[in-house]
Amino acid sequence: MKFAIFTKIDKDVSDVEKLVTKVCTKKGLTLDVDHPDFVFVLGGDGTFLRAVHAYMDQIDTVKFIGIRCGTLGFFYEFEPNDINKLVDLLLAGKYFDDSHRLIECRFGSKTIYALNEIRFENPFHTLVCTVKIDNEYLETFHGNGLLVCSELGSTAYNKSLEGAVIAHDLNLLQLTEISAIQNNIYRSLGSSLVLKPDTEISFNGDFSNVIIGYDHLTRDSSGATDIVVTSSQKRVHIVFSENYTFLNNIKRSFIE
Ligand code: NAP
Ligand code: MN
Repeated sequence: MKFAIFTKIDKDVSDVEKLVTKVCTKKGLTLDVDHPDFVFVLGGDGTFLRAVHAYMDQIDTVKFIGIRCGTLGFFYEFEPNDINKLVDLLLAGKYFDDSHRLIECRFGSKTIYALNEIRFENPFHTLVCTVKIDNEYLETFHGNGLLVCSELGSTAYNKSLEGAVIAHDLNLLQLTEISAIQNNIYRSLGSSLVLKPDTEISFNGDFSNVIIGYDHLTRDSSGATDIVVTSSQKRVHIVFSENYTFLNNIKRSFIE
């Protein structure tokens, strides 16, 4: 089995990095940064997003393991103290492979993928666009922007916008508004809309001053007037222990 280590750039985690390397090589794993079976991600959720995008070209075969290093770490169950036990579980195949479909977004000739969400925003002028669900007209949106998240991204930006937190054993898309204008002239749904994963959500409008955000990355809309969002066939695989529960994660991250 081959492993790689992906680290946060703005924090020194070299001690943990050395420990992972030592334990893995002692137990017979080989370091292969280019084609690993397992990627140990040392950091927090921001680091996790960066790791996933760094291995996007082989996303279906790589499994990501989060080792939390001093941040919220919603994608993380393990801590540096667990590394010995964790590698034993990996070797014995005694872990939970939590796989999730990514979100796919097409505009112009481009296709981008996201783990958390796709969003587009115009922070300076009212963004106006039509919203269609599987080609059926829903509304004409006026406001700052719109976001489509996965179950994994429901606890990120979506949560700040008062979208629902979605359990990780559900696979779906959630469309959430960013500062919609609601008055007697302009009206949109005004709450998050939860849809089955294969739904095609399409937006049509003038996106010339719009930034398209996907996870920690951004693109300009480069003149596109149509943005289409759906679930991808690409999946991300995250390693958790067999004892992992979503509720524990929610409690640790947001309540306790
Ligand atoms: P960042 O400032 O590091 O991320 C913002 C916060 O979101 C961090 O505390 C991060 O945790 C946390 N986070 C990321 N994904 C999460 C998830 N799936 N569940 C729970 N918390 C999560 O920025 P970044 O590193 O560029 O990350 C990009 C993400 O930031 C985007 O995908 C978006 O969801 C989020 N974001 C949130 C807001 C908002 O809430 N108003 C605005 C813009 C972007 P760590 O501290 O562990 O990294
Ligand atoms: Mn971060």
